[in-house]
Amino acid sequence: MSVENKDQSLVEKEEKAEKSGIEELYEHFGTEDPYRIEHWYPKIREYTFETVFLDVDYETCCAIAKYCESSRLLRQSINFQDTLEDRLFIHEEAAKHLPVSKENFTLLNVLEKQLDDAIKSFGEDGAFVKLSIRSPKDTAIQHHNMNVFIAESLRKDMECVGGKMDDNEWHRCGVSAFVDACCKVLRVRNGTEAMFLILHSDRVYSDIIRMELTNAKSSKVQLAVRRWDSRVVPALEFRSFVYNHTMTSCTQYYKLIYDPFMEEHSNEISNAIVAFHDKYIKPRITIPNYTVDFAVSADLKDIICVELNNPPPAAGTALFHWDKPEDRTVIEKGPYQFRCNTSLPETSFNDINKPFPTFIDSLRTGIPDVHVGFSCDCCGAGYPPEVSGIRGERYQCLDCPCSFDICSKCWNAGWGVRHVTISKNEFYPTGHKFLLIRSPVAASVDAGEPPTGPKSVIPPPKPKNKKEISQNDNDKKCNIS
Ligand SMILES: [Zn+2]
Ligand SMILES: [Zn+2]
Ligand SMILES: [Zn+2]
Repeated sequence: MSVENKDQSLVEKEEKAEKSGIEELYEHFGTEDPYRIEHWYPKIREYTFETVFLDVDYETCCAIAKYCESSRLLRQSINFQDTLEDRLFIHEEAAKHLPVSKENFTLLNVLEKQLDDAIKSFGEDGAFVKLSIRSPKDTAIQHHNMNVFIAESLRKDMECVGGKMDDNEWHRCGVSAFVDACCKVLRVRNGTEAMFLILHSDRVYSDIIRMELTNAKSSKVQLAVRRWDSRVVPALEFRSFVYNHTMTSCTQYYKLIYDPFMEEHSNEISNAIVAFHDKYIKPRITIPNYTVDFAVSADLKDIICVELNNPPPAAGTALFHWDKPEDRTVIEKGPYQFRCNTSLPETSFNDINKPFPTFIDSLRTGIPDVHVGFSCDCCGAGYPPEVSGIRGERYQCLDCPCSFDICSKCWNAGWGVRHVTISKNEFYPTGHKFLLIRSPVAASVDAGEPPTGPKSVIPPPKPKNKKEISQNDNDKKCNIS
């Protein structure tokens, strides 16, 4: 073999290795993937949520990615150790170098209009949106209505038991309230709300980037706009695994929840799901192996197929552990097993995203006045937001992509009109609409025109100096130990 030939074979090997990785990704985004909603939807249309599909072309995907990158850049340019003037200066500088262009905004506006039409075709019901690949459900915890929905659920739970609840029950209800809220905030009524979810989603962003890398202009992205069905309650959502056309196992979908009502009826639910699958889904789906999710209505009368997915481990396995051989055998071979929690898992409460455990605990003692999770983007009040938050009234910009919040002092001082960010149409926005959230559990209302006032009224920011910080850290350590 000559030297040249050797080189040749090396190149071939490298190409092969490289190709297999790309092939794998390409398959994931290829239009032929049978697990994509556009393929299974027509087959089981009557048994799942009505869906409208929108094609998203390559340029629009790029515009979404550029927008996401821009809002990250702005978010990450903020350092609350800086003085207010420094922060605003850096923010303004960052805004000059954003990757998103005017052309990108035009494409995003077109998409928003298409989404708006699709969502409104469902009338009052509203919709939830997902890319053909994944949904933007990771945006939920950033949503301004999370606290409101959680408080509302817990208030109802308290009413049911006449106002008395022990700590365990409070945590159990708190976890359910959190999961319910995460789902509820995904209900969108217009194009603007849908775009908020899409443009804030790390999942959507990473899917688009991966698609761009593998590329290809030939791969096709669709947005599925699905009719919202208020019969669906998270505690009664289930995930089933089907191998060789046979359902081998079924688990509650949200593994953090313990729901006594569901546990009590688990036998009939389990039987009903298997029967429903065998009668309506199995005869219509030709692929032998898949994951399929179901929702059962609260009166246990209806079953709705939520969606089809790849088999595990691409799909999560909830109460089954894919890395445990015995669980894996059940999933792949049966015999059929149904799993649900029979008590609140010990770690559930603290496994829900920060700052919600703190928030839920604070609700026990009445209406909290701290907006945990939101610090003032002007004076830094309530920083860091994970453990602290704005007190009293909070004003949130509706048009800013990176959650721009200010306290009432800053609002009254006229800072509602001066904030730098990217909005849908311009880099240096004016006339942004603000929401007023009177307390962490109050529904938001239109804040009206931001007052313009002498800027000197602004309270001076309180930058922490290094001594203070290390002092605080020491305090923390003492408290923990
Ligand atoms: Zn402030
Ligand atoms: Zn704004
Ligand atoms: Zn910002």
